[in-house]
Amino acid sequence: MTSREERIADFIEAFRVEPGSTVKLSKDFDPTYRGTVRKKKKGRQLLAEGIDILSEYQTRLYAQHSHGVLVVLQALDAGGKDGTIRHVMTGVNPQGVDVHGFKVPSSAELDHDYLWRYQRQLPRRGAITIFNRSHYEEVLVVRVHPELLERQNLPHSARGKGMWRRRYHEINEWERTLSRNGTKIVKLFLNLSNEEQRTRFLRRIDLPDHNWKFSSADVREREYWDDYQRAFSKMLSNTSTEWAPWYVIPADRKWYARIAAAAVIANALIEIDPQFPTIDKDAHNALLDVKKTLEAQSPEGAAPDPFEAG
Ligand code: AMP
Ligand code: MG
Repeated sequence: MTSREERIADFIEAFRVEPGSTVKLSKDFDPTYRGTVRKKKKGRQLLAEGIDILSEYQTRLYAQHSHGVLVVLQALDAGGKDGTIRHVMTGVNPQGVDVHGFKVPSSAELDHDYLWRYQRQLPRRGAITIFNRSHYEEVLVVRVHPELLERQNLPHSARGKGMWRRRYHEINEWERTLSRNGTKIVKLFLNLSNEEQRTRFLRRIDLPDHNWKFSSADVREREYWDDYQRAFSKMLSNTSTEWAPWYVIPADRKWYARIAAAAVIANALIEIDPQFPTIDKDAHNALLDVKKTLEAQSPEGAAPDPFEAG
């Protein structure tokens, strides 16, 4: 690994949820954490490095065509998911990236098992897919609001005592299957403080250009803050695995959250380490034959191979 790659790997260590550990969000993760990157200016170099890596490695990911990358983004309302997607993905080829947002499930979606709609949007080999909300809503909003579970029409055997534990297990196993078969899973939780959420909602009310983002449903959801903190803590404790660990991103400062998110995604690509395919000797000789033919077609006065000449 080069020093650039090592710096990225060191930087993200503080955000990783150790598989098997028990997380209590309020105690274990500080939404205002900045580590050694105290200033926005210092952060800029890291962000630039992260984005360079994303761009370089994405090309190789596409060329190698064996792995896909699934980025799972979870946050509380106003946590900064949309802005993170916008900033982190500058500099990557749009042909290689898909973004899917998941809203309240439709009746067609509710007519299938709870993982069905997520399964259908997984990344192709060579591509990066971002889930703006994800299958984790199935153990978050659905856990906080039992009436949503009611709408899922589950058989009796899939409900009742131990059902959340079973869901965590099913999600872990699903992710394990995907990762063994070439889908690298990167899970980011943007961790926002209660006070910063309040401020961001007020900003959406005070700035006319931001009014469209404001939803009174979000403010109602804020009443369930403690329930969400508990649900997030349990999710982090039960679904951070060796094959798909969670990263808790300090989200109170947007600039820092973007650097951290870019670094975690860049690190996943570094771990895949995709390579441009190489060709064997016969294929190479075939290329040289074609080269001769093309050179013989050069018009009067032109170099036989302007690329080589230039
Ligand atoms: P937004 O992302 O702000 O457009 O809002 C999407 C809404 O859909 C949020 O309130 C989510 O909680 C809700 N949502 C997403 N997934 C699910 C799900 N599986 N079950 C119920 N509600 C969901
Ligand atoms: Mg919303």
